[in-house]
Amino acid sequence: MEETIFSQIIRKEIPADIVYQDDLVTAFRDINPKAPTHILIIPNVLIPTVNDVKPEHEQTLGRLFTVAAKLAKEENVAEDGYRLMMNCNAHGRQEVYHIHMHLLGGKPLGPMLAE
Ligand code: 5GP
Repeated sequence: MEETIFSQIIRKEIPADIVYQDDLVTAFRDINPKAPTHILIIPNVLIPTVNDVKPEHEQTLGRLFTVAAKLAKEENVAEDGYRLMMNCNAHGRQEVYHIHMHLLGGKPLGPMLAE
């Protein structure tokens, strides 16, 4: 498994706007935001794609959701709503091979799929 830039963000070797970190997950603002709130929530352990998820990851991946709910409240997008998204491989247009949950909100979002 090859590390990505996200491993360096977790270790704080390169700058990122980290909004949350604990023993299992790290959350930081997307460098190229697609909505007023665009946060990436990632496991601290390297899991390249959803295809690599194993039963032992369940606690960590569950944490992605509890942190998403906490951050949505903090960002004041919880009531109006938001989108959680995870891309996998080429057809899913995954760019960074360290799984990440996108938290998008702060305006009415477009249709789920543009094409
Ligand atoms: P994907 O297409 O893999 O689901 O999304 C990757 C996301 O990571 C993109 O939205 C992209 O803007 C974001 N991203 C890529 N490199 C960096 C980086 O170095 N820092 C931050 N904060 N976000 C990044």
